[in-house]
Amino acid sequence: MRIARYCFRREKTYGIVSQSAILSLPGLAKRLGKDVPSTLEGVIENRTGGLETVEELVKKACRKDVESVSTPLTAVSLIAPIKSPPKIICLGLNYLDHAAEINSETPEEPVIFMKPHTAIIGPNQKIIKPNFVKELDYEGELCIVMGKTAKNVTEADAKKHVFGYTVFNDVSARGFQFKDRQWTRGKSFDTFAPTGPCITTENQLKNTDNLTIRTWVNGELRQNGTTRNMVLNVRQIVHHLSRVMTLEPCDIIATGTPAGVGHAMKPPQYLNDTDVIRIEIEGIGILENSVEERA
Ligand code: MG
Repeated sequence: MRIARYCFRREKTYGIVSQSAILSLPGLAKRLGKDVPSTLEGVIENRTGGLETVEELVKKACRKDVESVSTPLTAVSLIAPIKSPPKIICLGLNYLDHAAEINSETPEEPVIFMKPHTAIIGPNQKIIKPNFVKELDYEGELCIVMGKTAKNVTEADAKKHVFGYTVFNDVSARGFQFKDRQWTRGKSFDTFAPTGPCITTENQLKNTDNLTIRTWVNGELRQNGTTRNMVLNVRQIVHHLSRVMTLEPCDIIATGTPAGVGHAMKPPQYLNDTDVIRIEIEGIGILENSVEERA
């Protein structure tokens, strides 16, 4: 199941994405006289019914029910799947090909850093580049959305704690990232965490070990990677992080970027006003955002 949050007629709700339409889950529940959480976060946290409740609801619906609560995707605006994650945890140097392109040794363990939730934006929202940011870059990444609380989980059990996956752009101001020698300022500007377009649930996207990740800038293919090149895979990441901090429902984990970032090009190619970044991950979808420079 691919679930997205969206805005339709000024109302924010959530539903199931198909080829060309989105089905409102609260709308379907109301039509069938059932209850589902009023928000997607509520489903993830399993407040008054989790994913199983939603799946049962959809099974019960007939074609007429589905049609009556569906809206063409062209008529809605998709928004960030999780508006305000409790934590945004990111891995640095988690791809062998990316570590090689920046002449870095592959660390035994990837670097862990965090971004503030104020950096979150959704599909088609603008990445704001203050004019004092000179070396703006993209990083297309697979993003884990946590479902159940996880502390000291084994690799074998890790995926039981995952709700699903989305696409993430780890937008980075390289000048500040390297000048400060730690990454908080360079990675934490408002709008530097585009996410979306939807969450593909864990039970649908079972194999995360060989997914294609591609990033285009203004139509030019820059990253053409696969999660096969990860240093730590999804199970190992959840295991590894859960030994450090308690992972909670709606936490999101950006799992690192493959080769092809602008900074590693010769000469480096940084992002400018009006540039369009499009990231596609197999089985999830396309996250597209453009850059707007502001004084
Ligand atoms: Mg990154």
